Amino acid sequence: MPPRLRHRWTALAGATLAALLLASPRGSGEEQPQARVVVVQAGHLLADPGEPALGPHTIVVRGDRIASIEPGLLPASQFGADARLVDLSRQYVLPGLIDLHMHLAIAMDADVATVASPARLALMTAGFARRLLDAGVTTVRDVGDNSGVTFAVRDAIADGQLPGPRLYAAGRIVSRSGGHGSKLAQPGEIPYEPARCDGVESCRRAVRENVEAGSDWIKLTVSGSGREVAGNAAAPPDMFADEVRAAVDAATQAGRSVAAHAHGTASINLALAAGVRTIEHGTYFDAESVRLFRQHHAFIVPTAFVADYVGSRLDRFAGGADGKARDQLQRWVADAKSTPLRAWRAGVPLALGTDAGPSFGPDATARELQLYVDAGVPAAEAIRAATRTNAEALGMAERLGRLHPGYLADIIAVDADPVADIKALRAVAFVMKGGHVVRAPHAEE
Ligand SMILES: [Zn+2]
Repeated sequence: MPPRLRHRWTALAGATLAALLLASPRGSGEEQPQARVVVVQAGHLLADPGEPALGPHTIVVRGDRIASIEPGLLPASQFGADARLVDLSRQYVLPGLIDLHMHLAIAMDADVATVASPARLALMTAGFARRLLDAGVTTVRDVGDNSGVTFAVRDAIADGQLPGPRLYAAGRIVSRSGGHGSKLAQPGEIPYEPARCDGVESCRRAVRENVEAGSDWIKLTVSGSGREVAGNAAAPPDMFADEVRAAVDAATQAGRSVAAHAHGTASINLALAAGVRTIEHGTYFDAESVRLFRQHHAFIVPTAFVADYVGSRLDRFAGGADGKARDQLQRWVADAKSTPLRAWRAGVPLALGTDAGPSFGPDATARELQLYVDAGVPAAEAIRAATRTNAEALGMAERLGRLHPGYLADIIAVDADPVADIKALRAVAFVMKGGHVVRAPHAEE
C-alpha cells in the first residue's frame, strides 16, 4: 500500500471508509455499484505464473481481497444471495499485469498547451491511466515526471476518484546537473526544478525533498541514455560513487527503494554495489553484475519496448550533440532487445517495464512481454516477470502478482492461452482491480 494511502487508513475509521467505498459508484460513470462478494468462475487458472495453468476453479472475492479459491466451477449462490457471478469459464485467468517502468506524465509528442499547464497534464495522465487499467495493467511504478502531477493522479486513483492502476510514483528524477534525468523537460513545459544530485549533501537533500513531496520510490540516473554516447558499454558512470551511495543511503533511511537508470557496465555495478533495488535498462551487465544482482537481491528491468521504438525511428534519435551515430544506435537497439534473454539465461531476477507513457498505446506492457518472447525468453517466464517478479521487486510479493487467498483481487482474463501465444495479452477480455470489475467480457456484466 502506498504510504499516503496507509496514512489515510489510519487517519480514518477503516471499516467505515470501506463500507462507504463499497456502497457507492467508483466515479468513472460506467461502473455499477458492486456486490460485496464476486464469484469468478475461471476455466483455466494461472494462479502462479511460471507454473502450469490449473483447470477449472472458482475464485471468491470479498471486498478487495481473494477470500478463497475452490476447485471446479461453483454457483455464486453458494457464497451468498447477493454474490455476483463472473463467468470466465472459457477464459485464461491470471494476475493483473504490473509495469515497473512508465512515465505517465511525460508525453514526448504532446502539444505545448498540454505541457504548459499542470491541469492539462494531470488530465492527460489520468486519461492514460484509465486506458492502461482497461488494457489489464493493474499496477504501475512511475519512474519519473517533470511536473509532480503523478502524485495527484496516484492519490486520486487510491481515493476512488479516478480509474487507474495502483500507482507507485517516483516524482522528480534525481540526477546530476546536465545528466539524463535533468534533460527530459520539453520546451514550454511548466516551470520545474530538477532534483539535482551534485555532491553528497545535495544528493541527500534531493532524495529527502522527493520523499517529503510524496515519492514512493527514488529514481536515480547513474548513466547517460541509450541513445547517448554516455550510455555506451564502457562509458564511465555519470555520477560519482559517493553521490550514488549518498542518494541510496538517504532513500534507505526514509524507507524507500531506488530504481537506477544504468546502461554501461561500470554504472550498473556502481549502482548495485550501492544497494539499489532495480536496474533500469541494464543493457551492458557483466559477470560481476550478475554476482551483485544476487548478492543484493536486485532486479533488472530491461525495457525492450522503448529500444524497439527507437529502432523503428533511428533517423529521429541518432546523432546530435551527445547522441550515438546511426550504426552505433542500431547496435544498442539490438543489445537492448536481447537484454531480457541474456538476463534470464544468467539467472538475474528478471522484472519487466516498458518506458512507455501517453505517447504510446496502452498495450505497451503486453508488447514488452511479446518482445521478451521474441528474444527467446519462454512465455511462462515472461508472464512471471510481469506479475510475480514485479510484485517482489515492489516489496508486494505477499499481496500482488499471484492469485491466492489473502491477495488483492487484481485479476485479468484473456480468450486464448497466453503461454501458447503471448499476443493473447494484447486483447484482455476482463479486468478486476481490488475486487472491482473494470472490464467484463459479456454485455450483461
Ligand atoms: Zn524511463
